[in-house]
Amino acid sequence: MSSADEPCCDAPDPHWESREVVGRFADALVCKSCRRTLKLEDWAISLDLPQPERCTNCGGRLDRVPYSGPPDPAAKCNDCGLSVADAKKLHKRLVRLHPTGDYLEAAKACRDLGRLVLAFKLATAQIAYRSDTIEARELRLQALEGLGLIEPALVEAKDWIDRGAPASVFSITAGLEAARGNLDGTLDVLRLGLSTDPQNTRLWTDYAEILAHFDEREDALEAASYGLSSPEYRNRALDVVALIAETYESEDKLQQAVAAVQRAGKFKKRSVRIAWLTARIAARLHQWEEAKAWLRVTLELDPSHREARLALQRLVPEVEPKPSNGGGWLGWMRRSKDG
Ligand SMILES: [Zn+2]
Ligand SMILES: [Zn+2]
Repeated sequence: MSSADEPCCDAPDPHWESREVVGRFADALVCKSCRRTLKLEDWAISLDLPQPERCTNCGGRLDRVPYSGPPDPAAKCNDCGLSVADAKKLHKRLVRLHPTGDYLEAAKACRDLGRLVLAFKLATAQIAYRSDTIEARELRLQALEGLGLIEPALVEAKDWIDRGAPASVFSITAGLEAARGNLDGTLDVLRLGLSTDPQNTRLWTDYAEILAHFDEREDALEAASYGLSSPEYRNRALDVVALIAETYESEDKLQQAVAAVQRAGKFKKRSVRIAWLTARIAARLHQWEEAKAWLRVTLELDPSHREARLALQRLVPEVEPKPSNGGGWLGWMRRSKDG
């Protein structure tokens, strides 16, 4: 550790990361340059959602529980030893780190900084002391995933689904299943989510990505077409279309590649990958005007696209390039002539 006054090294680059420290979890401020730990904040966390008989700080059992109503402020946790009142005081102190003093806002700010343990504690406090909101619960799941606590996150997410969760939770759960390598489970959760909310563009986009992973090309394109309608998920859906079209192109199935690109409709001019691929396909089909037009689209979307710039330079002025000029761009043209 070093003091706040003296820099840790010549190029300090601090960022937050999370780690487990003997049964507790910690947010560590680490310098990316010298890898020194500048600050370490370790906390107990409650893996269970807040319950009247449990400690908000660590999830341990309280030594006395009322038959009904709120817990006795003097009741003590059998694990961490904090009283109900002490735990509340601790969380109040933590939330004051944020200018709004609002648990959820503070939790989101911590998540965005990468202080996942604190984000998790504050989201839990939001549920315990304010209200049980979807955002706070989702934040708990995100933080658990970030902390590598996939199994507890899945238990909580699936329990939520069983009790009727919003579509976003199916998406989070699918991500958790993918994180533990259960791709069939990912598909199952997404199908279940889509059966409860058939218009959900986020779920369709997730579904398209996982189908693309399984190389279920036509189903993936179909699913991606739903994602395209949402500005929020359009880029991800376009990437699915691009990936599948690229795969067809790499197998010399140009007609299928063109058909795949058509699925992007009017949005195909918004994807560098699709524009660049369409230019290459046009060149392989010797449609030079078409190729030039798509190279220009590529360069509009990504002015630093070197290959597209070189290719356009070779096509303008209007001279058809000779196929003997080597690999790269010209290689595709040669392939199309040979094949
Ligand atoms: Zn440093
Ligand atoms: Zn406790």
